[in-house]
Amino acid sequence: MIDNLTNNQEYKTKAVFFDRDGVVNMRAVKDYIKTEKEFHFLPDFVEFFGKLINSDYKTFLITNQQGVGKGIMSVEQLEQVLKFMQNELSGFYGKGFDDIFYCTDLAETGSYFRKPNPGMILQAIDKWKIDKQTSWIIGDSPSDVIAGRRAGIRTVLIGNYKHIDIPEADYIIKSLIEIEKHVPIFNNQTT
Ligand SMILES: [Mg+2]
Repeated sequence: MIDNLTNNQEYKTKAVFFDRDGVVNMRAVKDYIKTEKEFHFLPDFVEFFGKLINSDYKTFLITNQQGVGKGIMSVEQLEQVLKFMQNELSGFYGKGFDDIFYCTDLAETGSYFRKPNPGMILQAIDKWKIDKQTSWIIGDSPSDVIAGRRAGIRTVLIGNYKHIDIPEADYIIKSLIEIEKHVPIFNNQTT
C-alpha cells in the first residue's frame, strides 16, 4: 500500500503542490483550457512561484482534467498547454514545476487519482520521496484540500470559504497574495 509510506524517515523532500485552474491560471468559465491562448497566468501565482523557486521547496502541479475524459480536448492539447506553462515559467525564473501530475478520468468513475482522492499526490510523494509533514497543497476547490488531507499533507484553500464548511482546510485565504501573511509556509525552513 502506497499509503504506508507515511512519515518514512528517508522521505525528506519539502513540496508545495498546486492545483492549476483558479490558482496558477484563470479558470475558463464553464469550459476547459484547450489551447495556450486560453491560458492566462494569475499574477499572484507568478510572484509566489518565484519565491518558492528560491526556497528549499520542490513544486508540483496536481490537476484534474476530465475535459480529456469527456472528449472535449485531447491529451496532446492538454500537454501542449502544460508545455506552454512550463516554458513561460522557465522564461521568468529559469525553471518551471519540478513535476506535473494530471488525471483525465471522469468524475463519475470515482478514480483514486482524481481529486478529492489522494492518488496523484501519493504518487508524487513516492516518486520524489516527499516529507508529508513539511509539505502543502494549495487549491481553490474543497476537493483540493480534501485530497491533501487524505494524503496527509497540510492544506491551503483559496477563496470565499468558511472553516466550518471545509474542515479539511488548515488555512483559508482570500487570494494567494495573502499567503505569507497568514500561512507559515516559509517558517521553520530547516531541512
Ligand atoms: Mg481549481
